[in-house]
Formats: sequence, C-alpha cells, structure tokens
Amino acid sequence: MARDTYTELVNTPLGRRVSGALGLPQPARLRRHRPGAAVIDGPVALVGDTVVADRLAEVMLAWGLDVRRHPDPGERLAAVVVCLDEVSTPAALSTPVLGLSALLKQVGRSGRVVTVFRDPAGSSDPAVRAARQGIQGITRSLAHEMRRGATANGIILADDLDADAPGVAGALRFLLSGRSAYVDGQFLTVDTVNGELPRSPEGWERPLTGQVAVVTGAARGIGASIAEVLHRDGAEIIAVDVPAAGEQLAETANRVRGTALQLDVTSEDAGEKILTHAAQHHGRLDIVVHNAGITRDKLLANMTQDRWDSVIAVNIESQLRINRALLASDLFSHSPRIVSLASTSGIAGNRGQTNYAASKAGVIGMVSASKDLLGSRHGTINAVAPGFIETEMTAKIPLVTREVARRLSSLNQGGLPVDVAETIAFLASPSAGGTSGLTLRVCGQNLIGA
Ligand code: NAD
Repeated sequence: MARDTYTELVNTPLGRRVSGALGLPQPARLRRHRPGAAVIDGPVALVGDTVVADRLAEVMLAWGLDVRRHPDPGERLAAVVVCLDEVSTPAALSTPVLGLSALLKQVGRSGRVVTVFRDPAGSSDPAVRAARQGIQGITRSLAHEMRRGATANGIILADDLDADAPGVAGALRFLLSGRSAYVDGQFLTVDTVNGELPRSPEGWERPLTGQVAVVTGAARGIGASIAEVLHRDGAEIIAVDVPAAGEQLAETANRVRGTALQLDVTSEDAGEKILTHAAQHHGRLDIVVHNAGITRDKLLANMTQDRWDSVIAVNIESQLRINRALLASDLFSHSPRIVSLASTSGIAGNRGQTNYAASKAGVIGMVSASKDLLGSRHGTINAVAPGFIETEMTAKIPLVTREVARRLSSLNQGGLPVDVAETIAFLASPSAGGTSGLTLRVCGQNLIGA
C-alpha cells in the first residue's frame, strides 16, 4: 500500500500553515472506530420535533450520548441529527434547514451531520416528492461543504416505517460512529422492520458473535481487512483465495483464527465447496462477502476476449453462481447476509474499464434484483462501492494520477481498506437488517461525475 505523504505533511503544524496559506487541499486525519471507544465524542444536537426525532433522542440517550434539543450558541458539537421526515413541501424546508445552518460552525473535527427523511419514491405527490428529493440535494451539497474530516449523510425511511424499526437506530449509530469515517454524501435506506439491536455495549462491540462468515479474495488488500474486522466483531472466518495466494491466505486465516479455503471462485462447484467446508469446519454459514475481484484495463477499441471474459467471470458470474448454490442449501437459510464489492466505476464508468464497469454495475443490478429472494428468508443482500482505496491495486497507479484520484473527493484523501471493511461489517450485522438491495458508496464523496 502506498503512503499518502501529503496527508501526513499537511497534518504537521508547519504543513497546515503552508497548505492553508497556499489554498491547497487539507485532508484531515479521520476519526476511525477503536474497540471500546464512545460512539461519538461530544454533544449531539437534534433538530426537528417529529415522532422520529423523539424516538432517536430516546435511542441516543440510552447509548449514553449527550443529546441537546437546544444547544448553547458557540458550544462545540460532535454531530447534528436533523429529522425532516414530516416535511411535505419545498417551502417547509426553510425552518429546519436554517436551524441546521445556525449550528454548522459549531461542528468539530470528524463531526457528523445526519439527515433523516422519508423515501422520495414513496410518494406520488409532486410537492412531497420534491421536498424529499430536495433533502437529498441539501445533504449531498452540505457534504461537499464540510471541513476537517466531518461528513454529511442521510437516512431514508420507507413511507410507512415506524420510528421503532431497529434498522433506523442501527443506521444512525453507524453514521455517527468512526466506522463510517470514509462514507460521505451517501444515503442509507431502511425499509423493513427486520433486524435486531444489540442489548448491551458488548453487543455493539461484537455484533457478529456466533456467526460464520466467508470472505473471498481474503489473502490481501480489502479482503484481508474485511476478514480482520468481521473477526474483531465476533465472527468466525472462512478465508477464501486462489491456490497461488495460498501462503498469504494462510497468514490471513491464522491472524483471524479462522480457516483457509484455497478456491478459484470461478470454478463451477465453488458454491458447493464453500458449503462443504463450512459444514465440516464450522457447522453453519451466516455471512458471505463477495470481495474477490480483478481488473484487466484496456480501451474498448483494444479489448481482447481474454481480458473481457476473465473480468466478467471473476467479478460477477462467480457471485451469481455461488449465490444460487448457497441459497439452495439449508445451511445458508437462516437470516443469510450477502455483501458484494461493487465499485464507483460501476456507477460512473471509467476510461479503460468497460469490462470492469460492466461487472461492477452488474453487481449493483444483482443486489437490487435479489432483495426479495433474500427478504423471504429474513436475510439481506447489499453492495459496497469503494472509491479510491489505498491498496496494492491502487499503489500501481502512476503517481500523478494517484495523487489526483486521492484529492478528488470531499475528504481530500483516499480511503483505507478498513473503511470498506467497517461498512461491510455493518451491513452484515443484525442492526442493518432493515436495509437490503442497496449499494452504499465508501468513497469520501468521490467526484466521479455521476
Ligand atoms: P487485490 O487485487 O489487492 O485483492 C483481490 C484478491 O482477490 C486477491 O487476493 C486475489 O488473489 C483474489 N482473487 C482474484 N481472483 C480470484 C479468484 N478467481 N478466486 C479467488 N480469489 C481471487 O484487490 P483489492 O484492491 O483488495 O480489491 C478488493 C475488491 O474491492 C475487488 O472486488 C475490487 O474490484 C474492489 N474495489 C477495490 C477498489 C480499490 O480502490 N482498491 C476500488 C473499488 C472496488
């Protein structure tokens, strides 16, 4: 993984002064989750007087947070939660949004703004949908305006969803915490009452206790980090990678005290092999993370059959085949959780990546189409779309292009593998049971042009 020397420099006193004087980007050190750390450090202001706001106040107080309905002017705030769930015309946005405006200068380093509102698609009334869609515009624009590692994200609630649904509190806690450090300008949709909240602080620390998770492509990079974070959160790990990566795979498996399964995910019987291994060594299977992925970049005008086919085979066909096999089995039938790796290239496209973008856009399609099937088993399927993440893959990008890619995001820096892993661990956890079919970007609000 390449070092981000610029971010290190800017975070020295001299570097901060010089970059400030020259008007250069000022990437902050992000607040990331540490086991045992508080959800968020400091008061949380709550704007809005809806039933959802009352419920969220109760939930945050139960977590021991310092919730302020009327914060003192000038007081440093760790977060502002804005409940806009009853806004039904664009004109009605002004009071709560200007209430938020008055608080923004008080938001500290790595602070959070979280908007909470109803799904625009849930209403066919033009004024209602305009207001709700307007909140998305506000949240995205505000994310571009936040400074010093602070972010703005939203929680979208299905129209008829009760404020008590566990997924609402689960989404709020994730977005307030250091687990969402590199999630910015994004929306978490909660549309069912499924899911469960841990009942104790220990439960929040290790929400995957007792569960068995398979992670493909776990020998290195993002996959190795996913294995570590899922293990930290309590899961038993089956680490999968190709035989050629056997040594690194064994290292990952040893580190997380899991088991290693050498397997090419494109093989016809990959799903069956995973099931047999899970049954023999762990006795159950709860979570599947489809992380294995490759790039074989070429302009479409120069594309070869081999480059095209291999990317499609590893990045999407293998996932479809493995899901079919796993979902046909009794072992993977009790609240199964699937999380797939998409990419911002699958959302916006990228020069030289028609094959990769086809596969990653394919993942987004697969996930949204599989929501009902997983829902019928009380399970979920979601995707995570990383932007620029510091890995061996991105360390190979030429220096200038890499530097530009890092800075072209609202957080002015690349993400770390752990940022992707934290989001995956959240989506695999019981508190995210109300969210399915979603692709969540972990990209620091990368300016990808779509
Ligand atoms: P990486 O190349 O470092 O690791 C990928 C792993 O997958 C390797 O260990 C590799 O051996 C394994 N793998 C490849 N083909 C396999 C196969 N047929 N069967 C089993 N294992 C196989 O990549 P990374 O940067 O860690 O990326 C992980 C995932 O995240 C990929 O799906 C990638 O497309 C996605 N992603 C990465 C970035 C980024 O910035 N690094 C951005 C967007 C999406």
